[in-house]
Amino acid sequence: MAEIRVENLVKQFDAFTAVRDTSFTVPDGDFFCLLGPSGCGKTTTLRMVAGLELPTSGRIHLDNQDVTFKRARERDIAMVFQLFALYPHMNVRRNIAFPLVSVGTPKKEIRRRVDEAARTLRIEHLLDLPVSGLSGGDRQRVALGRALVRQPKAFMMDEPLGALDAEFRHIMCGELRAMHDRLKATTVYVTHDQLEAMSMADVIAVMNGGCIEQLAPPQEIYDRPASIFVGEFIGSPAMNFLRFEGAVELGAAQVTVGGIRVAIPAPREGRPSGPLALGVRPEHVGLVSEGGIRGEVIGIEYLGTNQIATVVTTHGMVKARLPASDAVSLGEPVGLAFRSTKLSLFAGDTGKVIR
Ligand code: ATP
Repeated sequence: MAEIRVENLVKQFDAFTAVRDTSFTVPDGDFFCLLGPSGCGKTTTLRMVAGLELPTSGRIHLDNQDVTFKRARERDIAMVFQLFALYPHMNVRRNIAFPLVSVGTPKKEIRRRVDEAARTLRIEHLLDLPVSGLSGGDRQRVALGRALVRQPKAFMMDEPLGALDAEFRHIMCGELRAMHDRLKATTVYVTHDQLEAMSMADVIAVMNGGCIEQLAPPQEIYDRPASIFVGEFIGSPAMNFLRFEGAVELGAAQVTVGGIRVAIPAPREGRPSGPLALGVRPEHVGLVSEGGIRGEVIGIEYLGTNQIATVVTTHGMVKARLPASDAVSLGEPVGLAFRSTKLSLFAGDTGKVIR
C-alpha cells in the first residue's frame, strides 16, 4: 500500500478551470474523502490521481514515485465507480476473477485471491450465482471484490454507493469502513454526501469551485469550519449564521449583535471589522423567554428525540435543536442564547473564519 501526494494540481478544460492549485497528502492506509457539491472538481481530481486524466500542471506522487505522466494501468490503482460494470453473463466468481484472468494469473492463485476477497466482503455464499439476479448492494460488493482482488496500491472510489437507497447506503458505509480497517488500504473516496464522508473518512477535503476549502478530520470540520461555505455544507440542519456589522477588539471576548452582547472565543489576531457573521450549530442554540437576540418562532419540526425550531431574527433565520419535551409554539416571541465556547466568527465578505 502507498502514500499519495498531490502537489499544486491544476486542471483546465479550455478556458474553464475545474481544479485550482490543489495539494494534499493521503498517508499510507488512510481513508480520504473528497467532499463537495456537484461540479466542484472532485471527480476530476480523482481521475488525475488515478491516471485517467492528465493534469494541466502539478505533480502526483504514489509511494514516493512521481506518477504524474504514468498511464492508469502503470499506477497500480483500482477504481470503483457508482455504476457497477459487471458482466451479466458471468457468475460472481468469474466477475471477481476477471482482472486476474486478463493478466494471465495462474488458476490456483486466482482461486485463492477470489476466495480471500469474497471472505473480506462476506460474499462467499454468492460466488456461484449469476450476477444478474443480485441486489444493488450485492452487486456493489462484487464490484468491490473485483477491485480488491488486484491487491492494488490504492483504491479510488467515485460515488460507489450513489445508486443505492439511503438505508442500504448507510449499511454499505459501515461495511466499507470495516473492510478498510481490515485491509488498511489507502483509499480516496469521492462523494457529495456529507454523512458518507463523516462516517467513513479519516480526513475530509471539502471542495468548492475547484479549491479545497478545508482539509481536516470529520470532527474538526464539523466543530471548526474554516469558512461559511463549509459550515453550511456540513451538518443537518446547517450551521446558523447571524450577520451583523461591527468591530471586534483584539482579545475581546464578546461582540454586539443588535444591541445584545454575545460572548465569543476572543480572536487570536487582527481586529476584525465590517460585515461579520457569527456561526453557531443548531444544537448550541437555546431559547430564553427574557433577553437574548429577539425573534419569533416560525417553524417547528418534530423529529422524535428532538425538535428543530426555526426562529426569524433581524440578523437572519436561526434553527435551534431542542429536546422534544420543550414546550415551543408557533408565533412565540423568544430570545436566542448561544453556548459561547461553540461559536465561530467569520468575515462576512470573504466567508473565511476569524475565530
Ligand atoms: P459531480 O459530482 O457532479 O461529478 P464533481 O465535483 O465530481 O461533480 P467534476 O466532474 O470534477 O465535478 O467537474 C468539475 C467541473 O469540470 C464541472 O463544471 C464539469 O462540467 C467540468 N468538466 C469535467 N470534465 C470535463 C470535460 N471533459 N470537459 C469540459 N469540462 C469538464
